[in-house]
Amino acid sequence: PPARLPVTLGERSYDIVVGEGLLERAGALLAPVLPSRRIVVVTDETVAPLHLPTLRAGLEEAGFAMLAEISVPPGEASKDFSRLQSVLERMLAAGADRWTAVIALGGGVVGDLAGFAAAVAMRGMPFVQVPTTLLAQVDSSVGGKTGVNLALGKNLVGAFHQPRIVLADMATLRTLPPRELRAGYAEVAKHGLLSGETLWRWCEGHGAALVNGDAAAQAHAVLESCRLKAAVVAGDEREESAEGGRALLNLGHTFGHALEAESGYGGGLLHGEAVGIGLGLAAALSARLGQCSQELPGRVISHLEACGMPARIRDLPRRYSVAALMGRMRKDKKVRDGALRFVLLRGPGEAFTAGDVPPAMVESLLRDEG
Ligand code: NAD
Ligand code: ZN
Repeated sequence: PPARLPVTLGERSYDIVVGEGLLERAGALLAPVLPSRRIVVVTDETVAPLHLPTLRAGLEEAGFAMLAEISVPPGEASKDFSRLQSVLERMLAAGADRWTAVIALGGGVVGDLAGFAAAVAMRGMPFVQVPTTLLAQVDSSVGGKTGVNLALGKNLVGAFHQPRIVLADMATLRTLPPRELRAGYAEVAKHGLLSGETLWRWCEGHGAALVNGDAAAQAHAVLESCRLKAAVVAGDEREESAEGGRALLNLGHTFGHALEAESGYGGGLLHGEAVGIGLGLAAALSARLGQCSQELPGRVISHLEACGMPARIRDLPRRYSVAALMGRMRKDKKVRDGALRFVLLRGPGEAFTAGDVPPAMVESLLRDEG
């Protein structure tokens, strides 16, 4: 039977359901939590042929009426205003009202776009997440952040909108390209490091099997990742704390965002690949600052390598300029008053924010690593 993780965020509680074959049973799972049997599905053109027929059958079996099936082109470029507008217009033209649920079937792009559409259409429609990438199952479908990008930067326009239920079906991961699966796993490893020795050791023991397709390991990782993220988010729903709470979920991301941006979005490093390298760098920086054991960076790096991921900047096919990476990090939104802010570790389960890391220290780390 599927596992259910109850989470309380926003005004209501809802369940994250994790298991196998949930799309087939979507109608029975959704009926008790939705105000009507009217739905629209938003998905992307890659996911639609793979998983929409199963979801559609599961919903129709329980008497749901699918008012519209909206497929956007796959990729980050779909998280924009013109796409949002066309999704909204198609939903409403199909007769969607305030009791019609918006179902996001896809990765984080579809979840963020459809969730934002659901948040703003008629000031809020019921929303359901059916995440089909590991990243979406362990990260973007939890926490209620939705939104789109501007030319000025990613996720600059958005809203908090919690779903009525999340269905994480392990069967959908079987069609995911292995590189996407591994990249999503970086966020699992991040959650392991944030959670503590128990989940981190579990990752070290099962991560490689997980990225090689072990569905039981995937389900465990999704459940434990969602438990960790939901607990962190519950303490700081709107990211009001600059130091604790949701900010800690940025472990590995100051380095990661800089690498991702330098590699050129799309065609370069996947977000998760950059975050994986960022986790190793965050551990290395923590060790250099005397905050964690000298062993931790090596543990992180060997684990990523065991999972088939690039683990260090020097593993990458091209060189990265230290000055360019430093420039990117200074522009990071986490930077305040010129000092570099990093989430650091005293050990697994002991993350904290340091707002006063000397830039020279970061620079010499990057020089030694590159
Ligand atoms: P994505 O949605 O672009 O999916 C990655 C690729 O996999 C796409 O090409 C997609 O078509 C394909 N795909 C999806 N599911 C598939 C399946 N089951 N089989 C085969 N192919 C499949 O990317 P993502 O990594 O899932 O999400 C990234 C997005 O998530 C970014 O826009 C990021 O900003 C956002 N995000 C949001 C939050 C949040 O809290 N809301 C958190 C983290 C990331
Ligand atoms: Zn991330």
